[in-house]
Amino acid sequence: MSDRIHTLSGYFHEYQKSVAQPEEFWARIADSFHWKKRWDKVLDWNFEEPDVKWFVNAKLNITENILERHLYTIGDRPAIIWEPNDPSEAGRTLTYRELHTEVCKFSNVLQEKGIKKGDRVIIYMPMIPEAAVAMLACARIGAVHSVVFAGFSSSSLADRIEDCKAKAVLTSDGNFRGSKKIAVKAVVDEALEKVTVDTVIVYQRTHQEVSMKSGRDFWWHELVEGVSEQHEAVETDSEDMLFILYTSGSTGKPKGVVHTVGGYMVYTKYSFENVFQYTPGDVYWCTADVGWITGHSYIVYGPLLAGATTLMFEGVPTFPDAGRFWSVVEKHKVNQFYTAPTAIRALQAHGTEPIEPYDLSSLKVLGSVGEPINEEAWNWYHTHVGKSRCPIVDTWWQTETGGILVSPIAGITPTKPAYATLPLPGIQLCIVDAEGNELKGNSVEGNLCIKFPWPSMIRTTYGDHERCKQTYFSTYKDMYFTGDGVKRDHDGYYRILGRVDDVINVSGHRMGTAEVENAINEHPLVVESAVVGYPHEVKGQGIYAYVICDMKNRTEENLTNEIKDTVSKIIGPIAKPDKIQIVSGLPKTRSGKIMRRILRKVAEGTVDNLGDTSTLLDPEVVQEIIEGRQ
Ligand code: ATP
Ligand code: MG
Repeated sequence: MSDRIHTLSGYFHEYQKSVAQPEEFWARIADSFHWKKRWDKVLDWNFEEPDVKWFVNAKLNITENILERHLYTIGDRPAIIWEPNDPSEAGRTLTYRELHTEVCKFSNVLQEKGIKKGDRVIIYMPMIPEAAVAMLACARIGAVHSVVFAGFSSSSLADRIEDCKAKAVLTSDGNFRGSKKIAVKAVVDEALEKVTVDTVIVYQRTHQEVSMKSGRDFWWHELVEGVSEQHEAVETDSEDMLFILYTSGSTGKPKGVVHTVGGYMVYTKYSFENVFQYTPGDVYWCTADVGWITGHSYIVYGPLLAGATTLMFEGVPTFPDAGRFWSVVEKHKVNQFYTAPTAIRALQAHGTEPIEPYDLSSLKVLGSVGEPINEEAWNWYHTHVGKSRCPIVDTWWQTETGGILVSPIAGITPTKPAYATLPLPGIQLCIVDAEGNELKGNSVEGNLCIKFPWPSMIRTTYGDHERCKQTYFSTYKDMYFTGDGVKRDHDGYYRILGRVDDVINVSGHRMGTAEVENAINEHPLVVESAVVGYPHEVKGQGIYAYVICDMKNRTEENLTNEIKDTVSKIIGPIAKPDKIQIVSGLPKTRSGKIMRRILRKVAEGTVDNLGDTSTLLDPEVVQEIIEGRQ
């Protein structure tokens, strides 16, 4: 626990050290892990290619750092607590010892099926402990996993199988989600009409009928039967691929982001322990799906590397009712709770009544990730869930960054609603203007870049290194470009303003979508909003707002006028939306993010080419929005 930050001055001290001597800093953190062979050099890098290597020539297996390392000290501690979709079904708990056994057995199964180091394996599974077992077993044999969210369509799945040339698919018969039973294997079958893999392994979860192709498809429970519980972890290089994960597709075609073993391991554990201030014995719960980076880094790898107890939830926030999250918190005495603004806003719309019956006194820390969290949602979360005593960590990061880069340290960094606050040690942020000039000092606003490597950063986009270079390293010389706009305020605190592509320029005033949405959401009847720019003859760009609201007895005209007044008061008349469209839903990715590019097309009136919409959750909303265009 020597790497733990305990005070604000301790944070500043560590941060200084990490910038002054990054290699010494990360070598010290990395020393607490188990390496089969130590590195020759901590870091080798250039952002031109890009070519980044951490812990050069070190050998290790990441699962030894999760399993063997904890076996004799905390073997009986729960590693994974699993809460099923249906609260009347019994949950499960896997201790570190049991997890070790399961992973060893499944590693043997994979190897018997001919899967070797470097082979790609698709995991298309519900939120059950076996999804984590599958990931870890791949890592243990040196295979590269690519988890695909089990709600994606067969063609999205086929695209990903094809893109990474997967050898096997690990899946389930079906999936329970809320009141629905979803056919999972059937989707895999459909995908495998277009592309082929050698092996499919099917975990029996719902016991629904599925078709099994002989010679290709096997039942998980049959394969693990009688298999050895001993398995020697395969030695991997620090820079061997750990996984490929496709981004959410908010801004375009999903990118196959590649992460490697050593750096990812060091950074996810370090950031997990510090940001959430996890203490042994705590129960930590992140509500994400393992299909997203948040699930990779902060349900599976980070917590398990830290020897934490991580809760895995199969269901949805509103089943059987909108109090489910809080009932789970009470039941398992959750200490750290980490979710997304989209979930907070959805629950906020149900009021505080669903929270009231539950005892949330176990909670110590609340977290947010995925999108900018608006002040209203932040305050609601803070007051009603955290009872004004739990710090909120607003964590900014990306699939590409592998781990949280900007966030308060829980209970240590003073927070400010809607601010991700300060960078973690090792993260050298840089704000640049459109020409790439660094904007120094406080009270500046521009594009967020990072000028020095960190251990869990993206190494390449799978099969297309040029795309990685073009997307992240070519916009500004010698910098990783995040694609996000940011403001550094007078205290040096960072606030994410949304995607740079979404920044609106009204009569020469640049405005982040997040800022305008934040103001709109302050109106008491607004549930959620999304703002985009559209061409405007006089102002250059006008502001178009899509708003979900509770109409109460208002007319649309009254309400839109009130919203405009609210924005005028909070930001100023310049930010007043020119058009407001009341909608029943917003186009979101399956990870819950608003796809503003679609809304921009609607606002511009160019709806014939909406681009890649394969990751869209509910295509019907798009039609409604097109029809209601202002
Ligand atoms: P794609 O790259 O395919 O368009 P995506 O960017 O949505 O998809 P992710 O890697 O899942 O894919 O999301 C990262 C982005 O989410 C960030 O770049 C940022 O815009 C947003 N984001 C994440 N966390 C926060 C946060 N705490 N505050 C503000 N924005 C956030
Ligand atoms: Mg992105």
